[in-house]
Amino acid sequence: MATPRKKLNLYDLDLPQLEALLADWKQPRYRADQLWEWLYVRLATDFEQLTTLPKSLRERLAAETTLYVPPVLAQQESLDGETRKDLLQMADGEQVEVVLMRYINRRSACLSTQVGCALKCSFCATGQMGFVRDLTSGEIVTQALHFQRELAAQGQRLSNVVLMGMGEPLLNYKNTLAAIRRLIHPQGFQMGQRRITLSTSGIVPGIYRLADEGLQVNLAVSLHAAMDDLRSELIPINRRYPLDALFKALYVYLAKTNRRVTFEWVMIDGVNDTLQQAEALAARLAGMLAHVNLIPLNPSTGYKGQPSAPERIAAFTAVLDRHHIPYSVRLRRGIDIRAGCGQLRRTS
Ligand code: SAH
Ligand code: SF4
Repeated sequence: MATPRKKLNLYDLDLPQLEALLADWKQPRYRADQLWEWLYVRLATDFEQLTTLPKSLRERLAAETTLYVPPVLAQQESLDGETRKDLLQMADGEQVEVVLMRYINRRSACLSTQVGCALKCSFCATGQMGFVRDLTSGEIVTQALHFQRELAAQGQRLSNVVLMGMGEPLLNYKNTLAAIRRLIHPQGFQMGQRRITLSTSGIVPGIYRLADEGLQVNLAVSLHAAMDDLRSELIPINRRYPLDALFKALYVYLAKTNRRVTFEWVMIDGVNDTLQQAEALAARLAGMLAHVNLIPLNPSTGYKGQPSAPERIAAFTAVLDRHHIPYSVRLRRGIDIRAGCGQLRRTS
């Protein structure tokens, strides 16, 4: 049997591309706007639902394109009911984990940008599984739509998106940026730019590019150590982009965007929670528009480190206090269902 030609996934197109497709099909210009609204405002899942479009157009769309809605292979709810992790299947069978976090007045989705990750940070479950492939822009956006459909049915709305799931967003730059632009589109999903956070392990060329995008999204940098030898041990990509190069890029980013940078710091007992690291961190951040997120390590089978004890976190933060470095100690969420930071991996 001949394999059917892979159909175009409409979620992979931005509005001008959708316009071009429909112009090719000799459709009036406003059809693209209507279709865009079906995709990103009305959250259609099937061509049958697109009742404002003529039947002939619906039939052609159904014949030549897809509206890929990933099936949910598994769903796990944390005991406290605040976090849920869903395993979604992409069209080629690859699987991606996405997490919904429910705060008192926020609904935040943690999205993946790649299947796996090539960067092999020692403590990260995604890194331990290796790199499989980039996600397309549609596959990234579809993760947000997945939660939005469910929330909308309950009269709620997805309020925040963090690109902190599987993968390194700045190594899938084009698709990640296309996904962000689709999420913030004023005629479409309409998410506020400041409600989106991109987390990177410190891909310097990507930070320079991002600085020139004219966006207001939040940038988070996974720092975890303030001296090159330790950081290279934890995050091997530090050998390619060491701290001086990383901070040089971040200062350019700050100058161009005027946006505060968040630094993530996984607290690993006896490894990076020393007073020496705290002092080095304070020195690096002195005078910088920055905020530190301290995250007690979440366990992963491939790494034997332990989360820092509360006393060690207190001693670390005392140093930051003394140097007036703003920080927060992040709550550990969803640990019982392995939906915490760095615990996402394909389970099959
Ligand atoms: N690749 C990007 C984004 C995905 S990882 C990055 O590295 O920033 C999202 C965050 O989870 C990063 O800050 C990462 O360092 C952190 N993380 C990874 N493994 C973790 C673990 N075991 N416990 C706590 N945080 C972890
Ligand atoms: Fe990749 Fe981020 Fe995990 Fe490092 S922490 S392996 S960059 S996903």
